[in-house]
Amino acid sequence: MDAKTIRDVDVSGKRVFLRADLNVPLDDGRITDDTRITSAISTIQALLDSGAAVLLMSHLGRPKGQPNPKYSLAPVAQHLSELIGQSVQLAEDVIGPSAHAVAETLQPGQVAMLENVRFEPGEEKNDLELARQLASLADVYVNDAFGAAHRAHASTEGVAHLLPNAAGLLMARELEALGKVLAAPERPVVVLLGGAKISDKIGVITRFMESADAILVGGGIANTLLKAGGNELGTSLVEDDALDTARSLLQQARDGGKQLVIPTDVVVASSIDRATESRTVAATSIGAGDAALDIGPATVEAFARLIASAKTVVWNGPMGLFEVEPFDRGTRAVAEAVAASGAYSVVGGGDSVAALRQMGLADQISHISTGGGASLEYLEGRTLPGVAALEGGAK
Ligand code: ADP
Ligand code: MG
Repeated sequence: MDAKTIRDVDVSGKRVFLRADLNVPLDDGRITDDTRITSAISTIQALLDSGAAVLLMSHLGRPKGQPNPKYSLAPVAQHLSELIGQSVQLAEDVIGPSAHAVAETLQPGQVAMLENVRFEPGEEKNDLELARQLASLADVYVNDAFGAAHRAHASTEGVAHLLPNAAGLLMARELEALGKVLAAPERPVVVLLGGAKISDKIGVITRFMESADAILVGGGIANTLLKAGGNELGTSLVEDDALDTARSLLQQARDGGKQLVIPTDVVVASSIDRATESRTVAATSIGAGDAALDIGPATVEAFARLIASAKTVVWNGPMGLFEVEPFDRGTRAVAEAVAASGAYSVVGGGDSVAALRQMGLADQISHISTGGGASLEYLEGRTLPGVAALEGGAK
């Protein structure tokens, strides 16, 4: 990585603007998964230890440019304060009088937070005036929000050009781990893709078609490939809009002699409510009234064998409707195979990571990415605006 990290800049006595990804899932104001908050702590702590005053900012949900109490960062500030054992003052606005008052009274060793940066209409437009206003609140800008780095917003891109800047420790870890997979991965490289929509993952499939030794596809995206190959898919989740693209991916794999491995058998049910009546059928024999909801045992075995021989595994997207038993079996089996493989493993995607945690296997993965969309775009080989802005330095 070319960007400086917080280890390379002197932050002692400085007010540091820390853009973190604190966009946690909330249920009625209660945080249901605090991974993003805990992931931000190493950088916060390192900055405090170096004598900085830390002014945090993040987005939360989609308030669409207007203040909305439903998307307040109040529960996040409260929870962070409990985790780090010190008070985290929350400003009532983003660039208004409260933000200025909080920023100006902040002392080295203290932590404060602005309100949800998406309360400002200029945030998602990457408005220069908003970036200027934000920059006026601090001396140094640190971006640790890898999960938001694929967006060119005022808080992730615009402001980076207006202050001395550096990458946070989480951002640096993400770029290092994903960079390793892109630059010089140990072979064989096996890419495992699943999840709902193939359109999200076409870029990654295309990119790794060139460089991976095998691409294993399960989940809803395999359904689309199976249908593109001429199979009956019944009531399965299929992305019909992407069938042409799916056909050309299959063609590309055939022409290039690439291993694009799709399921030979699947677990079907007539509906999710009839999970107890699920059956395994060949991928070529799915009934018109059935939905393919998981990869079958023969596919699991084939995938597991390839994973066992891998030295590098990249995984994004569950193999089936893992939220409902018994359709979690395929995902569970490949998760176990990845954990047991001894390969350098990188997993991204909210649902894939949730599945790994649910199965208690997360600690056996080399790198769990905190960015779903951002990790996919990075793996596609695209430049992330939030990262490029750090490397580009001040304009
Ligand atoms: P990630 O968050 O890991 O990137 P996605 O969001 O792309 O993954 O997809 C996850 C969702 O895909 C899950 O809710 C899962 O239930 C669903 N899914 C996977 N396979 C199937 C399938 N065969 N039928 C229906 N839904 C599926
Ligand atoms: Mg998801």
